[in-house]
Amino acid sequence: MPQGKFSRFHDVNRWAVEPQDERPARPDGRCFYCDEPIGGKHKKTCVIPSRIVRVKFSVEVEVTAPLAEGFDDDWVNHHYNESSWCGSNLISLLEQVEQESDGCLCSVVSAKVVDNGRGSDVQ
Ligand SMILES: [Zn+2]
Repeated sequence: MPQGKFSRFHDVNRWAVEPQDERPARPDGRCFYCDEPIGGKHKKTCVIPSRIVRVKFSVEVEVTAPLAEGFDDDWVNHHYNESSWCGSNLISLLEQVEQESDGCLCSVVSAKVVDNGRGSDVQ
């Protein structure tokens, strides 16, 4: 996977202190978080070197389904999992829910780690 300078994966296992690790709040040529100089190596306690964590986000929202007979739970499950309905349609659905929820999805979204990126069991 290509990793550009501003890729969300740029800091994965990156221990070298780079210029972007300095912050405008303290422009002194050092990592803002662990105080190591640019060109050096981040301390083990620094928050910059990262790992990839796989997270399963779940959303629970209301949708409509026909009242007519035959449109039972299996039909709804089939519609959203195996029909021509595209998962990308969820984006516009979530935008609608967001507008109806004062601009916040916190009440319908939850997250759970499924791979912690450390090679150990998820707790
Ligand atoms: Zn650092």
